[in-house]
Amino acid sequence: MITGAGFVGSDQHFDVVVVGSGFGGSVTAYRLAAAGLRVCLLERGKAYPPGSFARSPLEMQRNFWDPGKGLYGMFDVWSFTGMEALVSSGLGGGSLIYANVLLRKDERWFVRDSPLPGGGYENWPVSRADLDPHYDAVERMLHAQRYPLADEPYASTPKTLALRDAAQARKLDWQLPLLAVTFGNAGEKPAPGMPIAADTYPNMHRKPRTTCRLCGECDIGCNYGSKNSLDHTYLSAAAHAGADIRTRSEVRRIAPGDGGGYRISYLTHPADQDGRRTGTDLTADRLVLAAGALGTPYLLLRNRAAFPALSGTLGSRFSGNGDLLAFLLGARHPDGSPRRLEGSRGPVITSAIRVPDERDGGDGPGFYVEDAGYPYFAEWMAEAARAPSAAGRLARFLGNRAWARLTGSPRSALGADIHALLGDAAFSAGSLPLLGMGRDTPDGRLRLRRGHLQVDWTTKTSRRHFARVRGLMRELAGELGASFEDNPIWHLGRRVITVHPLGGAPMGRHAGEGVVDSYGEVFGHPGLYVADGAAMPGPVGANPSLTIAAFADRLAEHLIAQHPTAQRASAPAAHWPTTLGFTEEMKGFVALGESDYQRGFDRGRAERTPLMFHLTIAIEDIDRFLVDPDRVGSARGWVDCDALGGRLPVERGIFNLFVHTAADGGDTRRSRMLYRLFLHDGAGNPVTLAGFKDVHDDPGWDVWRDTSTLYVHLYAGHQDGDGGELLGSGIITIHLADFARQLTTLSAHGPTPGDSLRAVHAFGSVFLGELWNTYGPAR
Ligand SMILES: Cc1cc2nc3c(=O)[nH]c(=O)nc-3n(C[C@H](O)[C@H](O)[C@H](O)COP(=O)(O)OP(=O)(O)OC[C@H]3O[C@@H](n4cnc5c(N)ncnc54)[C@H](O)[C@@H]3O)c2cc1C
Repeated sequence: MITGAGFVGSDQHFDVVVVGSGFGGSVTAYRLAAAGLRVCLLERGKAYPPGSFARSPLEMQRNFWDPGKGLYGMFDVWSFTGMEALVSSGLGGGSLIYANVLLRKDERWFVRDSPLPGGGYENWPVSRADLDPHYDAVERMLHAQRYPLADEPYASTPKTLALRDAAQARKLDWQLPLLAVTFGNAGEKPAPGMPIAADTYPNMHRKPRTTCRLCGECDIGCNYGSKNSLDHTYLSAAAHAGADIRTRSEVRRIAPGDGGGYRISYLTHPADQDGRRTGTDLTADRLVLAAGALGTPYLLLRNRAAFPALSGTLGSRFSGNGDLLAFLLGARHPDGSPRRLEGSRGPVITSAIRVPDERDGGDGPGFYVEDAGYPYFAEWMAEAARAPSAAGRLARFLGNRAWARLTGSPRSALGADIHALLGDAAFSAGSLPLLGMGRDTPDGRLRLRRGHLQVDWTTKTSRRHFARVRGLMRELAGELGASFEDNPIWHLGRRVITVHPLGGAPMGRHAGEGVVDSYGEVFGHPGLYVADGAAMPGPVGANPSLTIAAFADRLAEHLIAQHPTAQRASAPAAHWPTTLGFTEEMKGFVALGESDYQRGFDRGRAERTPLMFHLTIAIEDIDRFLVDPDRVGSARGWVDCDALGGRLPVERGIFNLFVHTAADGGDTRRSRMLYRLFLHDGAGNPVTLAGFKDVHDDPGWDVWRDTSTLYVHLYAGHQDGDGGELLGSGIITIHLADFARQLTTLSAHGPTPGDSLRAVHAFGSVFLGELWNTYGPAR
């Protein structure tokens, strides 16, 4: 049991009891505890400090969850009609074994009234705009970083480069998504195995953590503490804020209390096989269910009789988020030589290809395909499993040794024989799992059969989705000279395995449509909430944990706002800076082999070599930005330029607003907006786009032209400063209509709405203030 510092009071009655410590439970527990509420969190599994995750075969075979059989491990595996499912049991829930990807649900995938095959509609009563501030908050708390592909040793990760190359060859939208992994401390260059800087709250495990070592073990628990899993982040902060966190505590019964509130009964599982289970009862004014998309509906179905007003939609809208696992095997270069994919190098997932939905320009349900790695020891297993060739090599090795003995060979060095024994390892090095997910049909139903959880779901009503995902995976296999292999269970009647179960207690506009409202509160039972994946009314499409966490953050904020004693502007445990961002699109022309901007533009226009970029500029901390003479922000997005090989993702981007450079010649009424974007061209060569807007007061009203014209140089290599081999030049501009759209994307997110407003105001003052300084007084 981990009990938070500073908590004083009854250990039987709480303001809020939270069941489960995954994304929904951890976020809610932290936010409510930080708002001064007395929170108890009950988690059925145990805590896993760094170094405690199973690795040996003996440890692994006991690492499953089945308390009835004396198993209290981390993997909770289910088999249902039409699908298998894998979830986690332990403090931190799915974050202990997830692949760290934090993607937001695509704006247009929050569908409204989308008809379902068996009747009814998929409807999301929340929008992307509702969740955006909460996405921001969660990303900050989980210290989200992108895979640092611009730096070594990350730059040479074969699977990332392979997926990028294949995506670029097919003109697909490839990206490095945010990952909840520490590759480097803030402000430091990423490097494997470095100590991770402490947070402002104590880590509950009190064990050293080090930056990601690229060992591919994320899905079996990170023994180095490099994953920013919920135990290291939200749960540590919740404990620090006073939450009472109880592990090995499995909730079995829930019911409304006689005089209001809720009663909760749980079993405490023993620390070893021989121990005894004990039962405990608690009461709470509010009860938050966050036991996951299988656990929460299971609890509600088992205790349904105690909740007469529960919606008839309980159990509905279940889906596996379109998950499909498949494999690329034996990749080859066009000349026939083996191509290394090395699935075991890097964190489990590093990059993602997004295929648009018909709602945003695609021609079917939208989906993602990601590289999926595995621990390096799995490569030994894969090689060993190729029995015939391995056995042949072993026979040859033993034969050579026997012959050497018989003939009394003096050769004592065995390096070459062992090298031959291991073979070229081309099979394991050239293979890679791919994980697809997307908008499948949420028409599954959870129910109980003789007390056991059942799911009725079929791939039949999602045929189009799975055909599209498999089709793209085949194309990628073709690009990489690999063969495509379905997951073996696909051949058993089109079954899938999901790691993203969703739905079962869906949100809706009313009790006829869902179990909970858009703030997770159960219709007909005030004070009872569902904060986890069960509340999703359909597939998230992208990996869902960030959306679940953002939904829980919104739920908690709403609960706090309505609570009579909660501290509304609860101070976050971590330093919570106010961020600001906007999206910018500029278009123009460049010419390769040209050094002059204007000539590059003119030639580019004549020869039809356009260049455009679509960037999201993010300022991480507006207060720091305002006093920083470099006024630096980050830029991400893409550059589209056929001359360079199509749409190229920005791997790292730096933006400076109104800085004074040597080029100003000391003229204080002159400044520059700088852009530096690091890309790889279609052939995989590093390229830098360096651009500037020259803001100065020329005769005439030139403010619009100055701030909307970007002079662009393209350099070979990734150049941090000026210099390097110049590849080409040109000019791109922002069109008035795009600028109007850009203004609507300006948004800020701080600890309070006031902070956000202040940030927009401060940014506007700097922007306009500098323009005024440049253009104003002289007029
Ligand atoms: C191998 C793998 C890789 C994944 N990779 C990604 C990824 O990269 N990105 C992503 O977004 N998602 C990923 N996921 C999915 C992600 O883990 C889940 O979507 C997410 O954890 C769901 O959050 P949740 O809060 O709904 O439930 P969970 O995280 O499942 O948490 C539920 C918790 O409740 C506990 N619990 C259940 N019943 C009870 C009970 N009766 N009493 C007390 N406690 C109980 C469970 O032990 C568990 O800790 C992955 C999942 C797996 C398995």
